[in-house]
Amino acid sequence: MVDFLDTRIEFLKGVGPQKAGLLNTELSIFTYKDLLEYYPFRHEDRSKIYKISEVHEQMPFMQVSGRLSTFSVIGTGFKKRLVAHIEDSSGRIELVWFQGINWVVKKLVPGAEYVAFGKPALFGHKLNIAHPELDVLSEASAQKGLVPVYPLTEKLKKSIDSRAILKYIQTLLPQALPHLQETLSDEVVEKYKLMRKRDAVQFIHFPPRTQELDKAMARLKFEELFFIQLRLLKQLGTRKETSRGQVFKGSERLNEFYKHHLPFELTDAQKRVIKEVYQDLCSGKQMNRLLQGDVGSGKTIVAFLCMLIGTDHHAQSCIMAPTEILAQQHYETISAWAEKAGIKVILLTGSTKKAKRKTLLEDLANGTIDIIIGTHALIEDPVVFKNLGLCVIDEQHRFGVAQRAKLWAKNKDYAPHILVMTATPIPRTLAMTLYGDLDVSVIDELPKGRKPIQTVHQYDKDILKVYGFMRKQIQEGRQVYVVFPLIEESEKIDLKNLTDGFDSIENAFKEYAVSMVHGKMKAENKEYEMQRFIKGETQIMVATTVIEVGVNVPNASVMVIFNAERFGLSQLHQLRGRVGRGADQSYCILMTDFKLSADGRVRIDTMCSTNNGFEIADVDLRLRGPGDMAGTQQSGLPDLKLADLSRDAVILQHARQTAQDILHEDPDLAFPKNKPLRNYLLSRRTEGFTWSKIS
Ligand code: ADP
Ligand code: MG
Repeated sequence: MVDFLDTRIEFLKGVGPQKAGLLNTELSIFTYKDLLEYYPFRHEDRSKIYKISEVHEQMPFMQVSGRLSTFSVIGTGFKKRLVAHIEDSSGRIELVWFQGINWVVKKLVPGAEYVAFGKPALFGHKLNIAHPELDVLSEASAQKGLVPVYPLTEKLKKSIDSRAILKYIQTLLPQALPHLQETLSDEVVEKYKLMRKRDAVQFIHFPPRTQELDKAMARLKFEELFFIQLRLLKQLGTRKETSRGQVFKGSERLNEFYKHHLPFELTDAQKRVIKEVYQDLCSGKQMNRLLQGDVGSGKTIVAFLCMLIGTDHHAQSCIMAPTEILAQQHYETISAWAEKAGIKVILLTGSTKKAKRKTLLEDLANGTIDIIIGTHALIEDPVVFKNLGLCVIDEQHRFGVAQRAKLWAKNKDYAPHILVMTATPIPRTLAMTLYGDLDVSVIDELPKGRKPIQTVHQYDKDILKVYGFMRKQIQEGRQVYVVFPLIEESEKIDLKNLTDGFDSIENAFKEYAVSMVHGKMKAENKEYEMQRFIKGETQIMVATTVIEVGVNVPNASVMVIFNAERFGLSQLHQLRGRVGRGADQSYCILMTDFKLSADGRVRIDTMCSTNNGFEIADVDLRLRGPGDMAGTQQSGLPDLKLADLSRDAVILQHARQTAQDILHEDPDLAFPKNKPLRNYLLSRRTEGFTWSKIS
């Protein structure tokens, strides 16, 4: 038997095949259920009709009612507009339209009574309402109380408007409500005093008052977030049950290295993370761990020590980095340590020569090599391991899901342990949703003795002052990065922007050597220029964001970013992280024009006021929303209908806690009281998540 709620939308009274087609393609509404879950994005308060004399320009959307006294079309061209007046016993107000004039005029009947709904504004000294919604008073009765407004697409607007959807839902609700099942268990509903499902669905569309609307929203948001968490946590549990991993218990090499060769004392946070990883490696289950640590927090040594554990158990490790420069740097850092530990490390990138590649790959396959560091080249088929035990993935967000999966598959007997490292801190709410099925470790402490980077905002007109400062730093032996933005519309302009910048810097700093790198350069040239800067042969590095990730030149103490307003917050933070890596006081100078958008201003101010990546990520989430944040691309962020990860942190917290408690008590959701939860998860089985598909 087909569930009533699965009835196709074309069978709803008033819809029919043609409109159904539009609802399908434009709004993905196929069934009754889809329509019920097509929630309004706001409600208009039509509960009160104001007297015209009460209206003032500070008011939000509101409505007045009155008799249409005059209307006329005035002006021509751009200035052409329709001006009408309605009046009640208290006064009169102007209504104005700039578009759709002919269409509106046809509807106007002088002397008739109307209800006008809109936002009052002051124009000159006169109040008016631009583009009001205008209804004949007798017909306006349909629009009472809190009236839902539904999101529409441009194409849809022509034939189905928000009111049409409202009507469909009005028709459907009374028939559908009896068929709606409660999805949460009584226990959960009572614990958080949630509204029941049926009420919530009814009231989110047609709330009698804002209180009911708020409760309906809270209930549906909870439900949405709760099931995501329940599913993620259940996957985590299941995988821990089923996914075997090699056991790396004890490590002579680690102890030896720790005692005699450690280049610096580890921070408490680094020690804690190594313990967390070690416990995973001993557990007999496959590790799936995300390591979040701000730029410069020292993730590399942590990764190395973890890999060292593997080598004692004849397991090989790999580090996959997003760029050649970064892979190269990892290689240099790690091979110095590895030499002391007596293990063998190689580098494999797109530019490794063919003959060399062949022998390297043979050594890898026969187990002579302990650690391989590389770029995407690592996931190619010819790369075969004798026994891959641990994969470290640096700057995880730059890898696609399919690529990760290929890496996973390189050990047929045991899935390799996975350590995903990211320097893009993401807010807790987002982490819980994105990586809810990974264990998370955090390095929340910078190495001792690091001086916080000082960040200042300067206007372009003060460039000479900035040059003066750069010169002073260089005279003290430091090096300087100068970054220009990528302007995505045109690579040509980009390059011009960069080379112009390079020329003026070279001109201003004739006595020094200047390097330049950008994405369009040949890998070997890029490499050459990077190396010159790393070795201190050049004092200034002019670059695009290619230096954003990972590059480590401790002697560089100044980061100058031009057109800083063009960068996103996380990108600015990443760029700034290139300095402050040595013992010297470091500086970040954000250059902008006088003109700054409101968001741009917030970004610059945030950068100047904090060095904490997590705080910055919170602001970023508020400014951009979860989908556009760095670190979330390709990540399988679930499509949320109602909940907003930047605002609903508390609900999310409760939802996750509740899911945890339930699974703790009843891991298989087998208890009768949890039957609704089980049913719901089963009914939504097809809406999988990317992370779970990998593992
Ligand atoms: P990230 O987490 O950004 O990858 P790195 O691993 O590149 O950071 O470390 C940044 C710099 O800090 C490196 O020069 C590294 O050698 C140094 N470093 C790491 N841990 C410590 C520590 N505990 N004490 C002192 N310096 C450290
Ligand atoms: Mg790093």
